[in-house]
Amino acid sequence: MDGSKIKDKPVTEEMLLAQGYRKYLGEELDIYYSKDICAHIGNCVLGNPDVFEVGRRPWIIADNAGIEENIRVINTCPSGALKYIRKDGK
Ligand code: SF4
Repeated sequence: MDGSKIKDKPVTEEMLLAQGYRKYLGEELDIYYSKDICAHIGNCVLGNPDVFEVGRRPWIIADNAGIEENIRVINTCPSGALKYIRKDGK
């Protein structure tokens, strides 16, 4: 699933926060997560355990991987629980 969009529309911070996503700040991109939508499939944790680690606080650390790697893993989330916003405007 494309982590930069919801229903083919580019996500905005306002949209995501209004829908109950929580923001995990990064230098190059912010990751957003909705525990209500998460299906606990585990693709994120398997995909990059440095960024996504259940039981750690915060459980998402965006800066533990580069921007392209974060996007790759976020796009493997099947439920739409993970979204991202790049800070370089791309
Ligand atoms: S990949 Fe998505 S649905 Fe699966 S555990 Fe991670 S956030 Fe939840």
